[in-house]
Amino acid sequence: MPHPFRWQPGEGQRHATLKPRPRGGYPADTQIEALCGAQITVDNSEVAWLWTTCPECNKTAHELAGTPIGPV
Ligand SMILES: [Zn+2]
Repeated sequence: MPHPFRWQPGEGQRHATLKPRPRGGYPADTQIEALCGAQITVDNSEVAWLWTTCPECNKTAHELAGTPIGPV
């Protein structure tokens, strides 16, 4: 079963969002609301995927997925 959220880097961290992602992903500079409540600006640069995971999004995402929280 697919998870209802997507990981999306923005604002220097990897956040998760419940917003449906358009085919091909969000365009850069799109404003989306993350699971932690922050409004983030989408960053699709290569290095963005190396950023650390937002702890609040990680917690909420694992609750939604029903899985234990692993190492961040
Ligand atoms: Zn977050």
